[in-house]
Amino acid sequence: MGILMTVGMAPVFADYYSYLASAIAVWFIISYGRLGFITDSPDSGWIILFIVSGSALGLLLNCLFVRERKRTFLVQRELIKLAFKDALTGIDNRRSLMEAMPDYHARSATHDFYLLLIDIDNFKLINDTSGHDVGDEVLVAVAALIERHAQTHAHGRLGGEEFGVVFAGEESAACALAEQLCESVAKLRISTHVVTVSIGISRFSETMTLAEIFKVADRGLYEAKRHGKNRYVLGSGQGGKSHAMHRAR
Ligand code: GH3
Ligand code: MG
Ligand code: MG
Repeated sequence: MGILMTVGMAPVFADYYSYLASAIAVWFIISYGRLGFITDSPDSGWIILFIVSGSALGLLLNCLFVRERKRTFLVQRELIKLAFKDALTGIDNRRSLMEAMPDYHARSATHDFYLLLIDIDNFKLINDTSGHDVGDEVLVAVAALIERHAQTHAHGRLGGEEFGVVFAGEESAACALAEQLCESVAKLRISTHVVTVSIGISRFSETMTLAEIFKVADRGLYEAKRHGKNRYVLGSGQGGKSHAMHRAR
């Protein structure tokens, strides 16, 4: 009975000390709290052997279960981390950013939030002329700049050569960030390419759905491209205000 209990409870405990304490408690209860119950028996040698070997087996099983549980926990934690990171650039991925959106949306009645849709200009041309490797290098460099400038704001790669930032703050600060991003990216030189981005900005509003907020930012992005790229546009219901950036030489 004691062996069944001490071996059977091995998987239950998350650390060796709790298991050992419980195994001692089991034997104590089974022997009615008297050591004499064991030592006075003519089979005391066998009983002690059973107790020691049963507890040792239980301890070994407990060690194995604890180790396995730790490994499973670490693997799960790593998988969860990977599921929310972009494999190429290392910044948050679309899933991560999209999962955060409803929260910002819900708080937009009392706080200012702006969505920045950032798209690398003429990216296909970079891929076509210098190859995918260089294209990937550009993605990593742009992602690093976004990470640097938008540190405290939610940001991530939405897919392809498109990134998103949810900026918490006033309109002027959101525009200042967009301007900073345009200027910093325009200074990048990767394999003879001058890299630039266009940015569409949209204000979070509780009266608009998330899809509508994206649509407005998308419209701003479209306008930025149409006006010559390397700039940001604050999207509005109809069209948007264009903010020209000087193209870096
Ligand atoms: P625009 O200035 O209008 O934004 O044009 P664009 O060339 O940047 O945009 P387009 O949509 O024509 O091309 C995007 C390209 O991005 C096409 C696709 O092959 C490439 N792309 C998407 N994901 C990756 C990636 O992970 N790595 C690389 N190297 N290329 C990618
Ligand atoms: Mg694009
Ligand atoms: Mg593009």
